[in-house]
Amino acid sequence: MDKWLATEQGILLCAEYSRAEVVAVMRTHLARIRRKLENGGGELPELGSREYTALLRADLLERRRGSLRRVINATGIVIHTNLGRAPLAAEAIEAMQEAASGYSNLEYDLTAVSRGSRNRHAEELLCALTGAEAALVVNNCAAAVLLGLRVIAGGGEVVVSRGELIEIGGSFRMPDVIAESGATMIEVGTTNRTTLHDYAAAVTANTRALLASHPSNYRIVGFVAQATLKELEALARERGLVLIQDLGSGSLVRLEGSALAAEPAVAESVASGVDLVTFSGDKLLGGPQAGIVVGRADLVARLKRHPMARAVRIDKLSLAALTATLRLYLPPNDPKQKIPVLKMATADRTALGRRAARFVKRLAALDNLQARIVDDVGYAGGGSLPMSELPTRAIRLEVRGMSAAELAARLRAATPPIIARISKDYVTLDLRTVLPNETAELAAAIRHALS
Ligand SMILES: *Cc1c(COP(=O)(O)O)cnc(C)c1O
Repeated sequence: MDKWLATEQGILLCAEYSRAEVVAVMRTHLARIRRKLENGGGELPELGSREYTALLRADLLERRRGSLRRVINATGIVIHTNLGRAPLAAEAIEAMQEAASGYSNLEYDLTAVSRGSRNRHAEELLCALTGAEAALVVNNCAAAVLLGLRVIAGGGEVVVSRGELIEIGGSFRMPDVIAESGATMIEVGTTNRTTLHDYAAAVTANTRALLASHPSNYRIVGFVAQATLKELEALARERGLVLIQDLGSGSLVRLEGSALAAEPAVAESVASGVDLVTFSGDKLLGGPQAGIVVGRADLVARLKRHPMARAVRIDKLSLAALTATLRLYLPPNDPKQKIPVLKMATADRTALGRRAARFVKRLAALDNLQARIVDDVGYAGGGSLPMSELPTRAIRLEVRGMSAAELAARLRAATPPIIARISKDYVTLDLRTVLPNETAELAAAIRHALS
């Protein structure tokens, strides 16, 4: 390697890129050669050959492109955590761009000419949309839950139902989050049944809070019981406790008439008397990654003052995107038209079927390809709402002489990569999650995959 780096080609390439990058890529080549020596098989071009320099240059370029890329989500899973959750509305992207390109009054009060709080930009909107007295925005919902528990119940006890000890993907486990907050978890009830009496019997002089969690990614069915928010609110009032609810996806509107009609809206929790409600910015709200706490003004004020709030504060770009997204919930806007995740999640089967038929027509000229429109289901969320099935009309692709796994791999190798679903041994595309301006790229990727 040293010898090659000292050649004219090596010196040129180290000037074009950096020596560190060239060495890093060459190391991956050496590892490939070693693997091949061990297992037999193909060869890399000879070091020093023109072919080798071309390969090195191509790999260096690829490395420079970075690993975080746009992909086309053809899975039909709207809030796909692995694919970056919510795509933003045009208004939110514009607000982000404006905040990014210059200075802003992020923490500067233009009328008082003094330090302002970054939180105030979102707080009024959140209060208007949820009916809460106060709101705080942090980095994500996990941080909101941790901060809330730490401030309200740290050093004391928090009572939680055994049926609601949730785990959200990515190592968010409620018992661990409670332990990290410094509160002691008091589990009550059983997996399938927890009554108000179970909570009441567990309250001691050290109890600070009752914690309810929305089981967004599982259901307990059959012989079940769970104390209602109203009952918990009454108990919290009577015993001087704080009622906290982790809603997770936290829709700001009821999605009547859609498969998500049962998802509770944040305002309903606030109206039920929950003292602090936590939810995500990038799930059903349809905004950027953020964690939101809404609720009683005195409690939110305590959260704002805690040093941990500073450590988990939201950045200006997310804040700009969040406030712009929240404004799309105000009249005369129709959030179901303006906010991409709501538009996708509420798109109806018939309309998706028509769009699929138009798309299949574009593919008609391809030999070897059979594209059929079939009844299928998508989901509101991958890690977050896998229980909410969305009936859909999907496109089932079959290529003569090519396995579904091979076709899916070729689509993933496209630019931009296409992420499809394999169901019943077929590659299936659900246009629900394909943005209108991505349709042409999707068709081109399929054409290319077959060539
Ligand atoms: C998704 C979710 C979280 C975590 O939210 P992030 O914004 O990903 O940190 C917490 N609680 C519930 C109930 C959730 O669904």
